[in-house]
Amino acid sequence: MDSKNDCLSKKQSEPIPGVLYLVGTPIGNLGDFSPRARHLLSNVSVIACEDTRYSRQLLEKFQIKAKLVSFHKFNTYERIPKLLKLLNQNEIIALITDAGLPNISDPGEELVSATIAAGHKVICIPGPCAATTALVASGLPTKRFAFEGFLPSKAKERKSILKIISQEERTTIIYESPHKLLKLLEELSVVCGKERPLQVARELTKLHEEQVGSTIDEVFRHFSENKPRGEFTLVLGGSQKNIAKTSDLDLIKKIKYLRESGLSTSNAIKVIAGETECSKNYLYSLIHEKNINNS
Ligand code: SAM
Repeated sequence: MDSKNDCLSKKQSEPIPGVLYLVGTPIGNLGDFSPRARHLLSNVSVIACEDTRYSRQLLEKFQIKAKLVSFHKFNTYERIPKLLKLLNQNEIIALITDAGLPNISDPGEELVSATIAAGHKVICIPGPCAATTALVASGLPTKRFAFEGFLPSKAKERKSILKIISQEERTTIIYESPHKLLKLLEELSVVCGKERPLQVARELTKLHEEQVGSTIDEVFRHFSENKPRGEFTLVLGGSQKNIAKTSDLDLIKKIKYLRESGLSTSNAIKVIAGETECSKNYLYSLIHEKNINNS
């Protein structure tokens, strides 16, 4: 059987009794609700969701009929034993949230760990997630990144997280609500400096989807003039302060060394660009400038 048929048969044999499924739902655009997610949700015993009225509306649009039970941060610990009991009886449970992937700044974490601890399988049916959607469209480095979700509101905790974020070398993703956006931008500007790269994704996947950048200062000025409305994900460039700058001389030495070790020029440049903050174009310009044989 080829791999494509493997996938089809997996889909047909889903859902599996006694499994907890985490199912991604759209973050705005209903076209992103996958056929696999819809098939799964049409065939489970129970769907646990944050707000039953909200999720019922989504499911009715897709003619999905299932028993809904509420599962949110205020009833998590009361619900878990009941859901585990259903799994023990070989029932199939799906967990969805109002939008996106469960367990990403949304309920799920405690249920997933309790399910695994009780010896049941957890399967994720992937779907849209605002964090990764914003990240990949931001133009900022994606090789390594950190996710902070919503920052804490208590002053002391918030101050210490903001300090950590300001020193973070990786790209950082932050969720924020519209009425707190300007305050967060002001705070980021103080700890990271006005010129730190920032890309803000607004209303991802929706009609008025928008990207605003490219520094904290520019984003602040934009949203001071245009009242923030809708949903926002911030993608903040990493701190460059702690990254040791490699001198041109060391870069040249490294290129020569890698070439003598058998790498082509382009592969040597690829390796060094991956290890340092230097672009491939910059490294090629060094080779030209220093007149190193470009073979
Ligand atoms: N679980 C969701 C996910 O996978 O992305 C996140 C849920 S969290 C409660 C909601 C926050 O995600 C919003 O306040 C906003 O910061 C971000 N978000 C959700 N949908 C978005 C969208 N369409 N555009 C931009 N940000 C969005």
